[in-house]
Amino acid sequence: MKIRSHPVVCREAIELMSDYLDGSLSRRDTRRLEEHLAICPPCRTYLAQMRLVISVSGSVSPDDLSPEALDDLVEVFRRYRDEPESS
Ligand SMILES: [Zn+2]
Repeated sequence: MKIRSHPVVCREAIELMSDYLDGSLSRRDTRRLEEHLAICPPCRTYLAQMRLVISVSGSVSPDDLSPEALDDLVEVFRRYRDEPESS
């Protein structure tokens, strides 16, 4: 995994996503994740990619993503981090 450089909150969000997509995430974690997604375009992109993989393969965990897909995501995160903070 080469995504160690993005913020911890995103790592957490990504870990929650597979359960979220399964529908097995708790209400509380679902809300935490959705709050994070609302402020984090890269994670929305990641979730969209996971949805896409699921639609093809039936199920997914972050470990199932191909190295190429992860590289793409790292690029998305990197671009996002280069944007000026607007909070
Ligand atoms: Zn994020």
